[in-house]
Amino acid sequence: MSANIERVDALVVGAGVVGLAVARALALTGREVMVLEREAAIGTGTSSRNSEVIHAGIYYPEGSLKAQLCVQGRLALYRYCAERGVAHQRCGKLIVAHTPSQLAALPAILDKARANGVEDLRLLDRAEAREMEPQLECLGAVHSPSTGIVDSHGLMLSLQGDLENAGGLVACHTDVEKLSVSAAGIEVLTADGTRLLARTVVNAAGLGACGLAHRVAGLDARHVPRAWFAKGNYFTLSGRAPFNHLIYPAPEPDKHLAGLGVHLTLDLGGQAKFGPDVQWVDAADDLQVDPARGEGFYAEVRRYWPGLPDGALQPGYAGMRPKISGPHEPAADFLIQGPAVHGVPGLVNLFGIESPGLTSCLAIADRTAALV
Ligand SMILES: Cc1cc2nc3c(=O)[nH]c(=O)nc-3n(C[C@H](O)[C@H](O)[C@H](O)COP(=O)(O)OP(=O)(O)OC[C@H]3O[C@@H](n4cnc5c(N)ncnc54)[C@H](O)[C@@H]3O)c2cc1C
Repeated sequence: MSANIERVDALVVGAGVVGLAVARALALTGREVMVLEREAAIGTGTSSRNSEVIHAGIYYPEGSLKAQLCVQGRLALYRYCAERGVAHQRCGKLIVAHTPSQLAALPAILDKARANGVEDLRLLDRAEAREMEPQLECLGAVHSPSTGIVDSHGLMLSLQGDLENAGGLVACHTDVEKLSVSAAGIEVLTADGTRLLARTVVNAAGLGACGLAHRVAGLDARHVPRAWFAKGNYFTLSGRAPFNHLIYPAPEPDKHLAGLGVHLTLDLGGQAKFGPDVQWVDAADDLQVDPARGEGFYAEVRRYWPGLPDGALQPGYAGMRPKISGPHEPAADFLIQGPAVHGVPGLVNLFGIESPGLTSCLAIADRTAALV
């Protein structure tokens, strides 16, 4: 080994909400941790381009990692936000039916949720739903009281603070180019030529995780899934929304394979946005919102809010889902891949950490830390 290589106990690649949560969890067990982030600041990727919803854990297949880690993560996240003063609000959501077939399918949502350990959902008839939200049009709804919203950037700053208090650090402007596995550990080479040797490396590179895993010399490529990118566009509402709950259309399996339908979410200031839709794209950095997509949004939103005024929607922002399943395939589960699967000691790859990754970040962190 050459002399100009620095030894670090644990490296985490990516300072999104998941990388920061993993780094914090490792540092709290007493390990020396460094997070390597290629951008100038933490949380500029998918972690700052999402709906900021604390999901209850309703829809995910029973027993899946998404189901388990969403429910565990939600409980942990509410606790954490309350303890650390991270801004959040348990505003609740309504899942609304506007066709007879959606209405007939509402009880199954309660069954699915119960199987995942989400016990607090309640069926509402049209009158009960409209009593909660007078501007809402629907045939019936499900109320999820434990769904909420969180200030994702405040959360990331808090996680970074915990990491640093435990002796860890975040190095920005540090683009990890490649890794190689040897008997001494995992060597990381960054774009500026820095070489680091670590006992543990966690690949939390989000949209770049599959690409980075392909650049690990010593990792068999058959363990790396194909990356797919599904853009989610948002349109914002000018003026205040007449709703106090998040509003989601009831799922339509043929239509909502890759997302949850164009829903209304609120931020902590009460401002509403609609989205995300699903647009499969080839490049992870294709984040422009095409104003022409607004037309489809008006039609979708007016199914549950007929009072949406003409001209009220403005193109907002877009986020990119780091998918590991393609269009027309059922959504893949989170893939948390440790040495027991790929055989490289000390390496964990986090693939396909799409929604509910924000909600699940603390639970993903515990699961990952336990693997190394
Ligand atoms: C449209 C949309 C809506 C969503 N809504 C919700 C929601 O409401 N609730 C919810 O729970 N979840 C939601 N999610 C999911 C959630 O946002 C993600 O699961 C979560 O933010 C993923 O965090 P991350 O840290 O894995 O990835 P990221 O935030 O993408 O962080 C990865 C980091 O790695 C860095 N990086 C990449 N490659 C390298 C490299 N080679 N070297 C150094 N650094 C590198 C990047 O710059 C980036 O900062 C949504 C996602 C999308 C796309």
